[in-house]
Amino acid sequence: MLADGSVVRDEDLTEVPSTEVSRLLGMPNVKEALLYDTLGGRRVRCNICLRRCCVPPNRAGYCRTKINIAGKLYSTIYGVVSAAHADPIEKKPVFHYKPGSQCFSVGSLGCNFRCAFCQNWEIAFADAVSPGGLCEFNLSPERLVKQALDTGSAGVAWTYNEPGIWLEYTLESAKLAKQAGLYTCYVTNGYVTPEHLEMIGPYLDVYRVDIKSMSDDFYRKLIRIPSVKGVLESARLAKHRWKMHVECVTNIVPGWNDDEENVRRIAAWIVENLGDLTPWHVTRFFPYAEMMDVPATPAGTLEKAKRVGEEEGLKFVYLGNIRIPEAENTYCPSCRRLVIERSGYSTRVVALTDEGKCGHDGADLNITA
Ligand code: SF4
Ligand SMILES: [Zn+2]
Repeated sequence: MLADGSVVRDEDLTEVPSTEVSRLLGMPNVKEALLYDTLGGRRVRCNICLRRCCVPPNRAGYCRTKINIAGKLYSTIYGVVSAAHADPIEKKPVFHYKPGSQCFSVGSLGCNFRCAFCQNWEIAFADAVSPGGLCEFNLSPERLVKQALDTGSAGVAWTYNEPGIWLEYTLESAKLAKQAGLYTCYVTNGYVTPEHLEMIGPYLDVYRVDIKSMSDDFYRKLIRIPSVKGVLESARLAKHRWKMHVECVTNIVPGWNDDEENVRRIAAWIVENLGDLTPWHVTRFFPYAEMMDVPATPAGTLEKAKRVGEEEGLKFVYLGNIRIPEAENTYCPSCRRLVIERSGYSTRVVALTDEGKCGHDGADLNITA
């Protein structure tokens, strides 16, 4: 961490030409940011994510979606939508919240991480200071909610890129979505500040978070943040302070986070901090972006991770990005019988009560039906 509390050096903050700065101010997608402090010399500190960038005038934050204009911080992605689809919630993946429901899913541009294996790098690493191309520029929160309702969706998810940098938009949209009776879901890398959660917490139902590794070395080398610590603290806050439904994902990258000790530590952390009924999705890595030389995760590695997770006490470990029969089904940990059958994105609820309990013996499954 640097002396100013940030984890970002000035040289990682993109310079924005002054002609571009004056053009941006009149645009509908440019809106004053939430959660920033004014520092000396017209610098500002952004407190939306844990990078806490200290941004001088005419520069953009690390995610390139926040820009300092004359000592005020602005978001450049308000209402900027790069993708919008009505998806099954299982695709997030979220398995224990309104199973089988449709979730209107939107993403924008930019990210606060720089994962070497990012599957969405075209939007995540895009120059969001001047968003262009295929983006819809003005999907207001009102229109987002209307589209969700028009498509018969039961909820809204912010996903595809990182919602943790999109607070100005997710907050307004989440408030309206809740008023309209929709549920709300973040699909997040979890690198958000407590202040961010304090704002969105009352309006967010589901927190689907990546726990990529317990090793700071993994986060430093492949993700370009100093430590996993902040991700874990935010997940605990989401669960305990804000009572969100939390599900975790770990993408197993051969040679990087597949050693048994690491897998065991992740599972043990979830059991201890989020509870043994927390769903854990262990997913297959495919060679991508900067990591084309790493092979896809073997099925046996995933199956072993599932065994290790169960040994640590997790009751619901699912295998994703791979077709292994029954690896996505929900079985009751008490009576061992099938409760929800999943194949691809088709979901069949077999035996679930209206309260989300096992339909066979009434056991608690941590499911919101
Ligand atoms: S949201 Fe962007 S500008 Fe703000 S702290 Fe995070 S990376 Fe930096
Ligand atoms: Zn049962």
